[in-house]
Amino acid sequence: MSYLDTIAQKKIGILGLGVSGLACVSFLTKFRIRPFVMEANEQSSGLKAVKSGWPEIKRLDELPLDADLLIVSPGMPNDNPWLVAARASNIEVIGDVELFARINQKPVIAITGSNGKSTVTKLVSEMLQNAGIHGVMGGNIGVPVLNLLASPFDVAVLELSSFQLETTASLKASSACILNVVEDHMDRYQQFDDYVAAKQRIYQGAERLVFNRHDALTFALGSDTTRCSFGMDKPQGNDIGIDGEYIVMNQAVVCRLSDLALFGRHNLLNAMAAIALVAPFDVPVDAIVKTLANFKPLPHRCELLANTGDIRWVDDSKATNVGATVAALNGVAPMCAGKLILIAGGVGKGQDFAPLKPALEAHAAHVITFGQDGHEIAALCDDAIAVASLDEAVATAARLAQAGDCVLLSPACASQDMFRNFEHRGEVFAQLVAEVSYVH
Ligand code: ADP
Repeated sequence: MSYLDTIAQKKIGILGLGVSGLACVSFLTKFRIRPFVMEANEQSSGLKAVKSGWPEIKRLDELPLDADLLIVSPGMPNDNPWLVAARASNIEVIGDVELFARINQKPVIAITGSNGKSTVTKLVSEMLQNAGIHGVMGGNIGVPVLNLLASPFDVAVLELSSFQLETTASLKASSACILNVVEDHMDRYQQFDDYVAAKQRIYQGAERLVFNRHDALTFALGSDTTRCSFGMDKPQGNDIGIDGEYIVMNQAVVCRLSDLALFGRHNLLNAMAAIALVAPFDVPVDAIVKTLANFKPLPHRCELLANTGDIRWVDDSKATNVGATVAALNGVAPMCAGKLILIAGGVGKGQDFAPLKPALEAHAAHVITFGQDGHEIAALCDDAIAVASLDEAVATAARLAQAGDCVLLSPACASQDMFRNFEHRGEVFAQLVAEVSYVH
């Protein structure tokens, strides 16, 4: 009997009608299971999408305590009082990834970390494709995991956020990785340890654990499964690392460093994590090399927009925490013949900005700050330039920049104070850059 048969007669609620909530509704409906739905935000587009003809729309305070199963949006914190009340009434609370895990029969590669998840998810899936294996990407990368079950595939490659992992217990990935852990989402977690613990859940039941040997928070504890660590140094045993000009795994050369199209130390780590993750699937070395040599960075991740008047403009709008901005500063600095000008700021999410200071001092000739918490970044530098908007930041950078310089938008902050999301912030930046580049 499939898991869906076991829940067919149960009282199931979908809590939160974002992208994954809506995917749950349509997935269950296909199997003739009609859940009740709940959405706290009256203006939610998801609510509008199900409103017509949906018999059971409830408010949160109408949560039926005789329900059997709640499938909650990753946006809903575990300590939400309604979820606490539901659990106290023996209602099972899971997320869409857990539902996927209970139904899916195919191997899973699972990826989490504070930064680099999307890049590694895409690298892994391209390595599989280049090896003739049908890998499909889902999860936090934008495709709800349940949508993957609509068509056949060989391997599901899942990008998982800590929010999604909080409600996931039975994924049992063929290989799983925590790329890195730095402070993030401190507006959701009471303690940093809670964030780390959520990330660590990715290793539950996994067959191969891939972790960063220089980041103790990624280590998998108390399990005797296959392990592979990655790092910038020479690897031991079956691990992966760098020996001279080569990436080496299992004591054998995989590729040359010069094969990589992506730049920056962080992307080298991402590449090694991806190689280690696909190992159980016997991906040939030529498929790995082909992937690394042709890989295009995802939009808004250290993306070179323009090189006008010999000034490089780099869009790293996806850098929504300090760790990502440190990586961008370290990665962009070596490409920059002249000065590096950083534009940063936005919603700090309660993070400590102090770890940004050494990278600012080492690499940034000018720091231009904007947005709600930009002043916290400005406070780390002697002569930061605080401006009121991204328009003003770009105009200021354009005035300061000379041939050979790089202007890097890497905000270290979320975008919602001024933009819809990081994509919107990156698009506005690209548009402003196009305008100043034209004037130059
Ligand atoms: P995520 O999906 O975890 O947000 P992305 O691949 O979308 O990761 O990259 C997000 C940001 O993090 C970008 O600014 C990118 O340049 C930076 N980044 C990517 N990989 C790493 C890494 N391994 N360490 C630190 N920062 C990284």
